Amino acid sequence: MKTSRKGFLRSALAAGALSMVPGKFIGATNTIVSPTRKRSMRLAHFTDVHLQPEGAAPYGFKTALHEVQNMDDKPEAIIFSGDNIMDSFSHSRERTKTQWDFWNKMLKDECSLPIHPLLGNHDVFGWGLLGKYKKDDHYGKQWAVEELKIPKRYYSYDLNGWHFIMLDSTFKHGSGYKGKLDDEQKDWLKEELKKTPESTPICIVSHIPIYAMCVFMDGKRIKNDNWNVPGGLMHVEALELKDLFHQHKNVKLCLSGHIHLQDAVEYLGVKYLCNGAVCGGWWGGNNQEFAPAYAIIDFYDDGTIEYYMKEYKWKEA
Ligand SMILES: [Zn+2]
Repeated sequence: MKTSRKGFLRSALAAGALSMVPGKFIGATNTIVSPTRKRSMRLAHFTDVHLQPEGAAPYGFKTALHEVQNMDDKPEAIIFSGDNIMDSFSHSRERTKTQWDFWNKMLKDECSLPIHPLLGNHDVFGWGLLGKYKKDDHYGKQWAVEELKIPKRYYSYDLNGWHFIMLDSTFKHGSGYKGKLDDEQKDWLKEELKKTPESTPICIVSHIPIYAMCVFMDGKRIKNDNWNVPGGLMHVEALELKDLFHQHKNVKLCLSGHIHLQDAVEYLGVKYLCNGAVCGGWWGGNNQEFAPAYAIIDFYDDGTIEYYMKEYKWKEA
């Protein structure tokens, strides 16, 4: 039987044998899957929940949590990549407490899955209020660290053969912030990458994207015929981190949120996924083209992943 080359390639692809095809795959090495790969785990990624006790948020968050827990092939944990509550950056101590109490009540009552959360800019207390709470013992990030029950504002863990690194993206800049790692955290990250065995795939989670294309679509980003992307939208040391990841080729996946838009960028063997927002446009519907959604991600033992964005019924009919 005569098989055309095209036919062979197609069947090789269908058999998941892409790695047998010779040639150089620029920027797409992560899509070469091993024909014998095995799924290590399935996780859900929730970002930018912006939970508050009012409006559509309670119904929407509960619905998303239940949907994930009732899936036939349900995820074994949920990663929350920040902006968990609506806002404590520019709100009072009382209002912040109300939001965190509600966050913890919802998780206790509606979620039986383990969670792996981190902080977003809106989870930081008081920075936006011009020093009003500067002397408060909860000022800054420690309050969120305690409410989220995480060991520190950045931390790491192993899960089913993958290593997860959870970063703190929010760097103080006046009464605002930038996407940036402080020196202490950067040293820690370098050490984490160094000590993780080369055979262990790494997933890095940050609230603010390390690298994304959707930041160019967030608002009016063209000024005088030049692109203008503020440091609050994407990590300002993206180039440095790109170089660092390139030295550690087991860095396979970077997850983020913050922009409330969805994209997937693949660069030098790393997939960068900015996974929209559970709250969509802050519980008022879509943000631009994107409805409220979360991600379901399958992680494989060869460092590849597959994922999809799941829209859900966020509002009572
Ligand atoms: Zn944010």
